[in-house]
Amino acid sequence: MHDVIVIGGGVIGLSIARELAGRKSVLLLDRGSTGQGTSRAAAGMLTPLSEADDQGPFFQLCRASHAMYDGFVQDLQSETGSDVGYSTDGLLCLSSSEDSANVIQRRYEWQKNAGFDVQLLSADAVHEMEPLVTVPICTAVFIPGDRSVTPRRLVNALREACFNRGVEIRTGLHVDSIARNQVRVGKMILEAANIVIASGVWSPELSGLDPPIPVYPRKGQILSLGMPAGAFRRMIRWGSSYFVPRSSGELVVGATNEDVGFDLSNTPAGLGRLLMDAQQISSHVGAYPILETWTGLRPATPDELPILGPSAIPGVYYATGHYRNGVLLAPITAAIVSDLVRGRKPGFAIDAYAPSRFGMGHV
Ligand SMILES: Cc1cc2nc3c(=O)[nH]c(=O)nc-3n(C[C@H](O)[C@H](O)[C@H](O)COP(=O)(O)OP(=O)(O)OC[C@H]3O[C@@H](n4cnc5c(N)ncnc54)[C@H](O)[C@@H]3O)c2cc1C
Repeated sequence: MHDVIVIGGGVIGLSIARELAGRKSVLLLDRGSTGQGTSRAAAGMLTPLSEADDQGPFFQLCRASHAMYDGFVQDLQSETGSDVGYSTDGLLCLSSSEDSANVIQRRYEWQKNAGFDVQLLSADAVHEMEPLVTVPICTAVFIPGDRSVTPRRLVNALREACFNRGVEIRTGLHVDSIARNQVRVGKMILEAANIVIASGVWSPELSGLDPPIPVYPRKGQILSLGMPAGAFRRMIRWGSSYFVPRSSGELVVGATNEDVGFDLSNTPAGLGRLLMDAQQISSHVGAYPILETWTGLRPATPDELPILGPSAIPGVYYATGHYRNGVLLAPITAAIVSDLVRGRKPGFAIDAYAPSRFGMGHV
């Protein structure tokens, strides 16, 4: 009997297990190996401001998690000796059309008025910062505080930190159902005082959930190019595409957002759009080698907010549905779930993320 069973070894489950370890005995289960789900696919942008149109509760949640990241990464790196590819070089938001310029301008204005560090730039200033940008620029905003991380390195470091802190990790175990204090894997029953559902886009497949939850997949196609050293330093967002440069020399170009079920294929249309957009942002990238193409399934919910909080079954907690922000929201999710499991009021309001909000009674 463990204190806690965490179902799912992605960025969310691993962060929660690490946070609870030491205070509780933790068993983490994954049906495959850890870090091979959606977390492996993420670009790793930690950018709460760039798409925020107001200071609603979700923005506050993202900002709070963003504010935890420096410490989260520092602790993780010193615990494991791993480099998680953390970059603090900021994000450039570029627009080439009047419509997208208006959106960027509106965001800039409310954020500036609210006291956030956002900077309106001239095209010349953009070219000084990123000389290889060739797209025509109507409006440009620089967000110096935005960050990025390399998600595959992050989940590897989290797994190692979990080992170091005494979390028992068992892979290749597919959880079929849950009940009060019980998790069933085939014919095996595992027992724990608390159970955390962190199985991402596959969470609704678990039988026994109360309430059931409407998490569904939104496919993201994404790719990486090999860039010459230092070609790009900052993240760049243009329309629905973005660049995330890594110090390792990869330039990640993302991402599509498709409602096509559990399909993990890369398609000519998806990759074609990304490659076209990439060459619009910078004509130079047309000569860069394609290093890798991949896809991931974002765990989406109907209102695009995560599902965080207690189930109707005592001792069962949800930490899923993180959609496009699971990497960003990992530190605060771990803190919230750790508080819940330890019987403490979370330091952050979570009513908006209640599992019961979808009105899906148990079936
Ligand atoms: C293309 C793309 C780009 C993205 N970019 C960003 C970004 O820049 N920034 C950001 O913050 N987020 C980004 N995201 C979103 C982010 O990747 C997700 O929100 C996050 O990875 C979700 O993490 P998770 O741990 O909930 O899920 P996962 O990483 O999918 O982990 C779930 C785990 O549960 C296991 N599992 C499932 N069912 C069972 C079961 N029955 N029994 C046992 N184990 C089970 C799976 O094997 C898996 O390992 C992106 C996503 C995509 C697809």
